[in-house]
Parts: sequence; C-alpha cells; structure tokens
Amino acid sequence: MPIHEKNLIEEDRILEKEKAELEGRDVSGQWNTFIEQRILSEYEPEIFQEIYSRPEGRTINRCWQCGTCTSGCCMHTDFGLREFNPRYFIYLARIGDEEELKKQKDVIWRCLACNKCVERCPKDVRVEEVVHAIDSYMRKKGWAPDNPASRWDDEYLRNVMKSGILDEISLLRNYIRDEKIEEFDTHYMMKMAVKLLKTGRMRTGPVRHRTKGWKRIRKVAEEILEKDGYELTKG
Ligand code: SF4
Ligand code: SF4
Repeated sequence: MPIHEKNLIEEDRILEKEKAELEGRDVSGQWNTFIEQRILSEYEPEIFQEIYSRPEGRTINRCWQCGTCTSGCCMHTDFGLREFNPRYFIYLARIGDEEELKKQKDVIWRCLACNKCVERCPKDVRVEEVVHAIDSYMRKKGWAPDNPASRWDDEYLRNVMKSGILDEISLLRNYIRDEKIEEFDTHYMMKMAVKLLKTGRMRTGPVRHRTKGWKRIRKVAEEILEKDGYELTKG
C-alpha cells in the first residue's frame, strides 16, 4: 500500500487514545488508516513521460513508494528540512500532479547529491538523479526559478566543457563571484583545500591539458545538451 501524506488523513476518525508519538513521529500505526477521498482533476501525464524520457529520470518507474530514501535523506533528517521529501517528489511526478509539484519549487533543489538515498533504495532507483530530473523539468517549464544549485551545475558544466577536465579553482572562484558571496569561512575553506591538494583531488594553476579527443567528444556532448534543450550561456 502506498504511503499517503498526513494531510490526507481524516484525523477526526482517529481516537485520541490511539495517538502515540515517539521523538515527534506518529507511531500509532493509525495515521494512514483513513484516507480522504480526492479526485485528481489536474492530472498531467506529460510530466511523468518527460522525466522518464531523460537519462537521469529513467529509473523513476521502479519506485514503489516505500519511503526508505526520505527516512535516511540527509536534508530531510540531519538538516531537518522535513518538506524535502524525495519519495513525495517522485510520487507527484508519477501521478502528474502539477499544482502540488509547483509547491515544491523552493525545496526540491536543496538536494545535497550525497547519494545516500541511492545506496538505500531497495528498488535501485537513482533517487538523486530522479530528483534532479524533476527539478530541471520544473525549471524548464518555468514553474521554478533558477536557484543556487542549478547555477552551480551550470558553472560546473561550462567549466568541464572547456577542456573536458574540471578546473576546481576557477569553478569556485567564478561561482563565488557570480553569486556575490561575501560571507565566507576562509579558514574552513583553506583547511579543506589543503586536504584536497594533499590527496590529489584538486589541482593548482590553470588546466594545462585536455581530455584526449576532447574536440570530438565535446561535439557529441553539445548535441546531447541541445537535444535536452540546454543552452551553454557562456564559456
Ligand atoms: S527508497 Fe526507492 S523505492 Fe523507496 S520510495 Fe525511495 S525511490 Fe521509491
Ligand atoms: S542525494 Fe539528495 S535526496 Fe538523496 S539522500 Fe542525499 S540529499 Fe537526500
């Protein structure tokens, strides 16, 4: 049985004595017993079809709504952003609920790309990729504005497309400049940079080499980006 949102539960049909909470969670086992009837009048099948047709959205149809991704999601649990609910995003995309999806516009982009959900999913859904596919679909439709995460992705892509190799320092520099980030924990960043340099995960100086055959690969990458309706705005 799929998990339903709490706001669809007829609370008044649950006896007071049956309510039980543990660390703020309803453990009565009753909260999903009675579901309010509702009719989806705004069903939009194109939403699922378009997300499913994207390479990163390809596994959306495997989801059986168990909620394992959400219960372990760093943003949902560690950072306490309860509205960030990957299971629910997938649910809305699958049933094509445009209105509810639009309400997620300020939340859905906050995925940390930690991939914990992917590790935990019993159905091999690439949850992190699917969440990004839903987010980028929403931006493409104009339902959600550009956000810091999408601008980071854009900057990352522009950077990689130059030579086929990521230049981390210019990526960070450009992002900080364009986002006009003034408050910056320099001490923390320096410590992290030293660690990355020591382990060879970050290079210094300009990128001197390119990916072998990059001109040819770049052409293919550009064709794919164009097919996805993506425009490289600069770089
Ligand atoms: S863990 Fe996997 S199957 Fe379960 S709700 Fe999340 S995406 Fe769906
Ligand atoms: S990748 Fe995103 S959705 Fe998945 S656990 Fe991390 S923050 Fe949550």
